[in-house]
Amino acid sequence: MQRRVQPTSEAIRAGNRARVVDILRRSGSATRAELIVRTGLSRATVSSLIGELADRGLVSEYSQSAVDSPGRPPSRLALNRAAGLAIAVDVGVRHVAVAVGDLSRSVLAERWVPLPQGHSAERGMHIVMRSIETTLAEAEADRDQIVGAAISIAAPIAPDSGRLLVPGVLPGWNGPALAEQIGRTWGIPAAVENDANLGALGESVAATPHGQDLLYVKVASRVGLGIAFGSGIYRGRDGYAGEIGHVTSDPDGPQCWCGRRGCLELYAGAEGMLARLGARGIRIDDVNELILRAQAGDADVLAVVGDGTRRLARALGALALVLNPSVIALGGELTALGPLLLDPVHAELATVPFGAPVAVRASALGPRASLMGALALVLSESNRFTDQSCVPTSSNPGRIAAFDAVPAR
Ligand SMILES: [Zn+2]
Repeated sequence: MQRRVQPTSEAIRAGNRARVVDILRRSGSATRAELIVRTGLSRATVSSLIGELADRGLVSEYSQSAVDSPGRPPSRLALNRAAGLAIAVDVGVRHVAVAVGDLSRSVLAERWVPLPQGHSAERGMHIVMRSIETTLAEAEADRDQIVGAAISIAAPIAPDSGRLLVPGVLPGWNGPALAEQIGRTWGIPAAVENDANLGALGESVAATPHGQDLLYVKVASRVGLGIAFGSGIYRGRDGYAGEIGHVTSDPDGPQCWCGRRGCLELYAGAEGMLARLGARGIRIDDVNELILRAQAGDADVLAVVGDGTRRLARALGALALVLNPSVIALGGELTALGPLLLDPVHAELATVPFGAPVAVRASALGPRASLMGALALVLSESNRFTDQSCVPTSSNPGRIAAFDAVPAR
């Protein structure tokens, strides 16, 4: 018969300390009262744990501005940079972006570098590694302050291995190889994640401190969707959740690269729009020209864009019925179409029955949505980014406390 081992009082304290740290890491900041409610611990215990973390230089207390509230507002607690820094990387078709942030969600340095056209995967990885180095230097980050890195790539990703489930828009790029190289170089856990998933997480966290049930639709060359519910990403069993671009819009439509016919992204994505115009003998070189000609009122372009956006709107109307989100945020290059994209979506969602209408808006973070989502991933999925975390000891006082004591969610 197995004997039950009673946890020591120090183990219980370490567990409680980890819960306080985890809440601050997920929320960015919290008042003492919020910590008491969310941990279920007594006021005295919370105060003592905060005192200990503050003595180690891991937590700071600051006052909120009192502009719109009478009386003195309660001060808030946040982890400071000694508690750890996170690296975010966004690999796009034409750019690499890197941000370094602290665990209170402040961005300390951010860098955008263009990717040369037709670059090799090797050259691309080299640009990523150099950009991380420079951004860490700009943030004046110590190597041992970094707790993890998340990398945004435009492809569905297997949740267990980080493997790209279909080739992304970047030929030759391999997600796990990049994560491995970053992890090995800086001695940190590094994970690859789908760009639309991270866009959803970024938007959700930026909208409210505790996240909002939100769908992020990336309308770019292709069409992707990220689902952030309860401030976490919904990935589905195999990591394919959100592949709205391959919902059938016309069963008799053209062949899609996925193997089916008439997929939504062949109509609503920029690549598909350009191909449809090309089939009519109208040659347009890139997305920017497509947007300019639509805005200038070119009738042929407007016909193709209008058809695509109406099909997208119908798909989003169906999703709103199924998932009942609070917000649908539209991101990606085609959001530059402005009302030409937003108006049909508004009109369709206004007809969805039941409950309050879904709020539809352009992404608040714009092109930074996936990058900010990558930063938020390191902060919110603390169970994935724990390897470097340890209980502060006398020989190692500056590192953050036992994240691994917090059960994975
Ligand atoms: Zn398809």
